[in-house]
Amino acid sequence: ILSVTGLIKDFGEGETQNHVLKDITLSMAAGEMAALLGPSGSGKSTLLTILGTLMRASGGTHEMLGVDLIHASEAQRTEFRSKNLGFVFQFHHLLPDLSALENVMMPAACAAGRETAAMRDRASELLEAVGLSDRRDFRPAAMSGGQRQRVAVARALINNPVLVLADEPTGNLDRESADHVMALIRTINQTMGSSFLISTHDEYIASHCPRRIELLDGRIVRS
Ligand code: ATP
Ligand code: MG
Repeated sequence: ILSVTGLIKDFGEGETQNHVLKDITLSMAAGEMAALLGPSGSGKSTLLTILGTLMRASGGTHEMLGVDLIHASEAQRTEFRSKNLGFVFQFHHLLPDLSALENVMMPAACAAGRETAAMRDRASELLEAVGLSDRRDFRPAAMSGGQRQRVAVARALINNPVLVLADEPTGNLDRESADHVMALIRTINQTMGSSFLISTHDEYIASHCPRRIELLDGRIVRS
C-alpha cells in the first residue's frame, strides 16, 4: 500500500540547512502494524507528517495505493488524506465541547458537511471496539487520559482508513493505560484490517508491534 524510496527532507537553506531525513526507503503491505522506533530528534514525527501528506518531502518518491503523492496537487493530497489516512497524536486533540461519540464522528461529518445516522452507528461501533460504549455521551474532561486516547483511536478509524499514522500515541499515558491502548490497536489492526505505523522511543511499546522500523539520525537502520 505504501512505497517510499530515497526520500529526503531538508529544513532551511544554505548554511543553516538541516538534513532531517536522509534516503528513507520503506514499504508497507496491507494490514501491517509497524513500530517506528527511534530516539528523540531522529525524525519520526517528520517522517509521519510526510507520510500523512501534511508536509511534502524535499526529494525521493512517495507512492501510496498507486498514487504519486510527491507530484500530486495540494487538492489531490487533501482528498487522498481524508479518504485513506487516519491520525492519532500524542495529545488526544479531542474537542472539549463535544461528546465522545461526536468527537469520533467529526472527521466524517466534516468531510460530508453534515451528520448522518450511518455515521452515528459507525461511531458507536468504534466506541464499542475501544471499550467505551458506556462513555459515548461523556465529554473529554470527564474521561481519563487512556480513555481519551482510545476515543482518539476510534476517531482515526471513522473513515475506514487504509493506514493509520500514530505519533507517540501512548506518550502521555502510564504503562498500564499505554498497554491497554496498544493491545486495542493490535486487535483493531487484526479485525478491521487497517495498517498502522506507530512512532515511539519506547522499546516496550514497540514490542506490541509485529514489525519494527528503526530510525537513527534520519536514516532507517533496521526494518
Ligand atoms: P521526538 O521523539 O522528540 O518527538 P522525533 O524523532 O519525532 O523526536 P522530529 O520531530 O521529526 O524528531 O525532528 C527531527 C529533527 O528535525 C530535529 O532535529 C528537529 O529539530 C528538526 N525539525 C523538525 N521540524 C523542523 C522544522 N519545521 N524546521 C526545522 N527543523 C525541524
Ligand atoms: Mg516526534
